[in-house]
Amino acid sequence: MIDKYVEFIGEHELDAIFKIAEKIKDLSILHVNSTKAGGGVAEILNRMLPLMKELGLNVDWKVIKGDSEFFNVTKSFHNSLQNGTGNIPEEYFKIYDKWQEINLSEIPLDYDIMFIHDPQPAGLIKFKKGNNKWIWRCHIDISNPYPSVWNFLQKYISQYDSMIISVPSFGRDNIEIPQFIVPPSIDPLSVKNRDIAETTVFRILYKFGINLEKPLITQVSRFDYAKDPLGVIQAYKLAKRHVDIQLLYVGSPATDDPEGEKVYNEVVKASEGHKDIHLLMLPPYSDLEINAFQTASTVVMQKSIKEGFGLTVSEAMWKRKPVIGGNTGGIPLQVINGITGFLVNSPQGAAHYIIYLIRNEEIRKRLGINAREHVRRNFLITRELRDYLMTIAYVAN
Ligand code: UDP
Repeated sequence: MIDKYVEFIGEHELDAIFKIAEKIKDLSILHVNSTKAGGGVAEILNRMLPLMKELGLNVDWKVIKGDSEFFNVTKSFHNSLQNGTGNIPEEYFKIYDKWQEINLSEIPLDYDIMFIHDPQPAGLIKFKKGNNKWIWRCHIDISNPYPSVWNFLQKYISQYDSMIISVPSFGRDNIEIPQFIVPPSIDPLSVKNRDIAETTVFRILYKFGINLEKPLITQVSRFDYAKDPLGVIQAYKLAKRHVDIQLLYVGSPATDDPEGEKVYNEVVKASEGHKDIHLLMLPPYSDLEINAFQTASTVVMQKSIKEGFGLTVSEAMWKRKPVIGGNTGGIPLQVINGITGFLVNSPQGAAHYIIYLIRNEEIRKRLGINAREHVRRNFLITRELRDYLMTIAYVAN
């Protein structure tokens, strides 16, 4: 299976991955996160684990458990870390700590390498025994965190052997441990990203009542304010006055995101029953459907206001789509303004580029070709795999 990546990255790069894996093959590695499905972290782990195993590594993945109270707490931590604001009652910190302790019975802490993803399970480190190595992999934007939440977390993070962030600007000044910059990645061989037949695309569009003739603008995202779904609707409505398009907003629930339903209801309301707005809430693992929607799109949007990386951007770019992306977090790593897509700061800006792109097929094509090549060079899973192996080799030494 791993040999199949040669087509995208060449023999040389693959050899390098095997060589680094050889150096760490005696270590046991455990990934820990907070959801099996829904969102980018689960997306990557679902693809990364089989590859690591194929390299002969002794690797496992565990998901922490929590009740709705815990996930409300971690969602408000998440929001306040990304937005720099918040209103966090003192008891939230106690609830967080209580669940770290409860999870001691779920998560073995004695692997040689503990690879902990995001803030939800970060506090497990306080139960560390012995001298195994702990890596904190942060997938969110912590460039301007709300101080009380960051100070609380930092007590834990500073006990790690290293941390990994996605974008240079997420780096923290007042923390001693090494910080590595590793942008996330997509898997070109997954059902979500591989080339699919036109008939499959048509069948799926038809099934969901999407017009096969009219240009399609799509955003694939959890129903989360950070993804600005209401801004997407507004941009669509502004553009629709000038070009005859349809909008598709596809989301799915994530067990660690309790806000989804509320946001979904607001989006339904804002859509005002417009017949060319399609709102879909799909079950997790609807990868073929997501692939079909991205493939069928004329333009893809990721109009986030805050974004750790935004895998959906690379997913669309890999399918040669011009992406209109919010100018935030990891999106500017992917969308190079005017070269691989367009960066925007408002619904008006997004509407402007929707109209421009719908009217300019040549530009769409050119951006799409550049987009695919940019992802091939920088955001395929083999590159992230190699970076993870290097980080593990570094901390293990
Ligand atoms: N996704 C999905 N179904 C949905 C919405 C999102 O499969 O209805 C996937 C999407 O294709 C991407 C991931 O979930 O692979 C979202 O990752 P991203 O980094 O864009 O955002 P996050 O949810 O992690 O903030």
